[in-house]
Amino acid sequence: MRHGGMDMGIGPTQLRPDLRTASRVLVVAPHQDDATIGAGATLADLASGGARVVVVDITNGDKGSIDPEQSPPELAAIRQDEERAATAILGLDEVRFLDFPDFAWLDERAVTLGILREIRLEKPDALFFPDPWLPDEGHPDHRTVGLAAAAALVAAGLPHVLPEAGPAVSSPFAVMYATGRPNLFWPAGAFWERKRAALQAHQSQFTGALVDLLMAYWAEQSASWKGGKGPKEAFRLVSALLMHMAPQIEIGKDD
Ligand SMILES: [Zn+2]
Repeated sequence: MRHGGMDMGIGPTQLRPDLRTASRVLVVAPHQDDATIGAGATLADLASGGARVVVVDITNGDKGSIDPEQSPPELAAIRQDEERAATAILGLDEVRFLDFPDFAWLDERAVTLGILREIRLEKPDALFFPDPWLPDEGHPDHRTVGLAAAAALVAAGLPHVLPEAGPAVSSPFAVMYATGRPNLFWPAGAFWERKRAALQAHQSQFTGALVDLLMAYWAEQSASWKGGKGPKEAFRLVSALLMHMAPQIEIGKDD
């Protein structure tokens, strides 16, 4: 066990960081539409408040079609354009593409190295990634990318781990989206419509009718969550200190 921050003194901000205070945010997405689906309104809100928000898409999304006539290389190019449009609508600063193959059983170490490079380059306060421990998650890219992001977060401050990824930096805190174990409920407010517009930009994935159906479902589901009325996005926020050997946050939580 090794926690890079131990000698800096432990206080509430280390154990329960405040997402509002994040000035640099890195978002790890398995596919081009995941950042919008999982966190679009929240990311737009953070960017609007002045945070630098960078999205990294891990795979090229070239299997995301039900049309057998669709050319995968063409689809990959289309989806990059859609993602550029969507992140612009959300007001985010940058999107980068690591171009791993889509739905091809990713090498977790290779993805960890790719994410770690981005962490050590961007030095984010907050790292968004899909919760790899979502019980019903059937897509292998989401499981592997989530595990790789968690590993990269833990490794960020350890200079002897994957040194080819660049000099060690402080580990960001985790903000897991697509989670079934949320502890942070973010009211979307006016950014809900921004999320709708960004989702509509992913035209290869959603018709306008499907976007409206999903947005209505998500709004209805989230209206009863903590954090007041109105649509929300839910996350599992975990400090870097608690992303390793921290059973305490699971024990007794059902009280
Ligand atoms: Zn996905």
